[in-house]
Amino acid sequence: MKIKQTSFLFIALLNLFSFQLLAQNTVIKAGHFFDARSGKMLDNQVIIIENGKIKNVGANLKINKTDTVIDLSDSWVLPGLMDCHVHITSNLSYRKRNWNDVDVTESNALRAIRGSVVAKQFLDNGFTTIKEIGNDANYATADIIKAINKGWIQGPTIIYAGKIIAPYGGQSWGVNPEHEHFWDWEYIDADTPKEIIKAIRKNIYYGATTIKMVTGDNGIYDAEDIKVAVTEAKKYGLKVTVHVKMGGQEATNVIAGGAAAIEHGFGLDNTQLQLMKDKGTFLVGTDLAFDNWYAYGFDSAKSKSWVNIDVDRLKRAYAIGTKMAFGTDIVIDLPGLNRVQSNLKILENWKLAGIPPSYILQCMTTNAAELLGIEKERGVLAPYYYADIIALKNNPLNNIEAIKTVQFVMKEGKVIRRD
Ligand SMILES: [Zn+2]
Repeated sequence: MKIKQTSFLFIALLNLFSFQLLAQNTVIKAGHFFDARSGKMLDNQVIIIENGKIKNVGANLKINKTDTVIDLSDSWVLPGLMDCHVHITSNLSYRKRNWNDVDVTESNALRAIRGSVVAKQFLDNGFTTIKEIGNDANYATADIIKAINKGWIQGPTIIYAGKIIAPYGGQSWGVNPEHEHFWDWEYIDADTPKEIIKAIRKNIYYGATTIKMVTGDNGIYDAEDIKVAVTEAKKYGLKVTVHVKMGGQEATNVIAGGAAAIEHGFGLDNTQLQLMKDKGTFLVGTDLAFDNWYAYGFDSAKSKSWVNIDVDRLKRAYAIGTKMAFGTDIVIDLPGLNRVQSNLKILENWKLAGIPPSYILQCMTTNAAELLGIEKERGVLAPYYYADIIALKNNPLNNIEAIKTVQFVMKEGKVIRRD
């Protein structure tokens, strides 16, 4: 009997001890704190983190002796950033782009290995969520996501499109009939509502959490086709985003069909941008900077004219009030720069368009989270949200380029980087 009592006491003590372990929070002292909802910078905030999520945020919160304190008093603290248009497994040669080469010479395994390296670059540079939007070989990213979830590698939260759904031919051109299925590596041909539905179900089966379509590169989808896709994806809680390179009828069809976003849309006119605003269609502009266009092999004059197109469309979309989410679409690393450094060149265009830094940050946080359907989990630093938190050396509201000065990254409460 006595032995039993002792073991009860022991278990009770053990429980008390583990309770205390659980009660130990991580606390961040933020000298400057970006409130993503209002777009304003607040001073001297305390963030309390428990089990990977934010428990409380405020100016005068009590810090317990048992808490682990991370002092970021001299930093600018923000929610983790989001890039809504990336291709982590793809890389084309500088000024020598050739997709056909990549498809023939790079295996799915090699693509997945590259993707895992690039995914870590995103995380280390402050991007805690990305939307991986196709061109990832034979579902290479699905394995990267599994490896992250197993804890084998570190990476951001990945919202994943699987294979790109497109009218016959994907985004290929000039392929001879003997190699008709060449593009199946990265695309699913879908030319009828039935084929669109089947393609969506196939992507979901292999791990997709968003649906990406392409229109206008080969065939053009009708508004009805887009509507079929939106309805089917919605059954599983997924959104549909559509690549439209320029604008025209294909863009009008996408907006009318109720897609969540247009990717690129370099040639959208003001009527279309207004229609997008009215319908809540996001623009993920992927506004490549001069160096990025030049990397594609265009000469200086052509690269410059692309920049003018980007900046003009960015300005018009901002003035009209079209909802925007940040997306980069870089698949060519610039000499001496990693993928994220190459991506962030595009900030040059946002600056040329005169977009305020606070709005650019919202495009990378609250707006991005809304487009990705994770606005109740990520994108702001508030109670019940995941503790995806970064800190910068400089004030991004003075100059948006400050997002290149990341010195601290936390992902779901775990410190990934601290300089
Ligand atoms: Zn892209």
